[in-house]
Amino acid sequence: MHNVIIIGSGCAGLTAAIYAGRANLSPLVLDGYEPGGQLSITTLVENYPGFPEGVQGPQLIENMRMQAQRFGAEFRSGAITGVDLSKRPFRLAAGNESYECNTLIIASGASARLLGIESERALIGRGVSTCATCDGYFFRGKEIIVVGGGDTAMEEAMFLTRFASKVTLLHRRNEFRASKIMLDRAHKNPKIHFMTPYVVEEVHDVAKGAAESVRVRNVETGKTNMIQAEGIFVAIGHDPNTKPFAGQLAMDQNGYLITHDGPLTSVEGVFAAGDVQDHVYRQAVTAAGSGCMAAMEAERFLEKHHHA
Ligand code: NAP
Repeated sequence: MHNVIIIGSGCAGLTAAIYAGRANLSPLVLDGYEPGGQLSITTLVENYPGFPEGVQGPQLIENMRMQAQRFGAEFRSGAITGVDLSKRPFRLAAGNESYECNTLIIASGASARLLGIESERALIGRGVSTCATCDGYFFRGKEIIVVGGGDTAMEEAMFLTRFASKVTLLHRRNEFRASKIMLDRAHKNPKIHFMTPYVVEEVHDVAKGAAESVRVRNVETGKTNMIQAEGIFVAIGHDPNTKPFAGQLAMDQNGYLITHDGPLTSVEGVFAAGDVQDHVYRQAVTAAGSGCMAAMEAERFLEKHHHA
């Protein structure tokens, strides 16, 4: 029986673990499919406060993990396959393992959707990115492609015009999912060039370990051509990692957990932190902040109900 189980070991989960550890709650952290979360797949993080020269994402995560361990957090690998939140203690299953806890902090994040081509995965952090706020600055004066036709793609494309010499917005259909206002703004921006209906077939050059160009295909004509791009921003949406909680916790139509009064969910004793409940800010520092709030609320809850 655990006082606190934390699902997810990104910025939100690790910050919750640091706070719960320092409150003597001996938290158990279940790592999930992507240990370390999205920071562990980025390179330089320049906007996390306290690092004037920036810090490598994986290093930042490793530091947080060590900090949590120092205060007694325990880590197990394994992704959640089932939960029963209908009564306390809550029950969790991760494959063959089962766990019980009095409070649960869900910090399982949201995974950026990828196009699913091999060269894209190989060049993540080396030209391919899923976060303009994180990586745009590295592409000053360069040519960039943004893939996607929703609001995120418009927003990322507009943000990237601050740095890039040219932004090509590549979308697989001629119609856009983005709101009219965002689409109009992007159309009015002289640095944004629209290319539809196109898909990305391959990112070059995997052998050199850096993006240089992209082979794209016109979906209607089947014709392919190469376009120069040192940055490829994939902005085709995020999926919150909430499948195991379906039917047990309140979620919005996109599957994000609905929180109120900070990190409280629709079930007492279950808290949510980070991107799993935030599709607006999605920053390391906001995730860390909400992880702290979740741990403090878990501590209060335990004091009130379990005299931990
Ligand atoms: P989204 O609305 O789901 O749009 C995803 C886009 O990516 C779609 O255009 C989709 O194409 C395309 N796409 C999906 N899978 C693809 C694939 N495998 N290959 C190529 N293209 C693919 O996602 P989002 O833009 O991240 O927005 C999510 C939510 O947040 C929305 O409700 C949005 O309004 C909101 N949001 C709002 C703002 C704002 O108001 N400031 C900013 C960002 C996000 P199809 O259209 O062909 O399906």
